[in-house]
Amino acid sequence: MAECEICGKPLLTQRKARIDGVVFTVCESCLKLGEEMPVIMPVVRKNALPKPIVGEDCVLIENFGEKIRGERQKRGLTQEELASKISERASLIKKAEQSIELEENVIKKLEKFLCVKLYEKPDAFIPKGREEHAVLTLGDVAEIRRKRA
Ligand SMILES: [Zn+2]
Repeated sequence: MAECEICGKPLLTQRKARIDGVVFTVCESCLKLGEEMPVIMPVVRKNALPKPIVGEDCVLIENFGEKIRGERQKRGLTQEELASKISERASLIKKAEQSIELEENVIKKLEKFLCVKLYEKPDAFIPKGREEHAVLTLGDVAEIRRKRA
């Protein structure tokens, strides 16, 4: 059995505490000596929500340049006109339409102005919890189908 790294008492529950910058496995009473650290549990909580999508996890979609050009042409705007609408230089629009990656703030402005999604979340970033949820959902669908039949 694991022992408390501070007082040596056998541990019933393993808690982690940071004491003077070092993380120890400690008992309940020694926990108070430091700052409690979250213990990563191997069990996935059923009701755990998928993490919100954050900027750096997203990548530009393939052919975002075509998308931008298509949306611009739909609006009957020239590259210069679109550029002035979002207060950027026409040369940036030209680059964007060639699918050359631009600064995030320029892309965001284009997304907003053209009402299109230019960033996507790569599959690799889908949290484990969501997969489990998808399986459950498929099960539910099958259940519904059985009832209808
Ligand atoms: Zn202890």
